[in-house]
Amino acid sequence: MAAKNGGSMAEGYCVRCKAKKPIADAVEETMKNGRKAVKGKCPTCGAVMFKILGGKAAAAPVAAPNPPAAAA
Ligand SMILES: [Zn+2]
Repeated sequence: MAAKNGGSMAEGYCVRCKAKKPIADAVEETMKNGRKAVKGKCPTCGAVMFKILGGKAAAAPVAAPNPPAAAA
């Protein structure tokens, strides 16, 4: 994800505009499963937007998927 404007503006998909929009009033939340999400609203139509961030929560370190060096 490229941060064009700087700051912590998250971008999400507005189902009403059917387009990607920067999430206005974005609030970062941590869901029950430990993943982070951004909740906000569309700056154009005001529809609620919800974007799930990458599941890289520090609380749940997943084992690195090491590719088996079987072949070769
Ligand atoms: Zn919208």
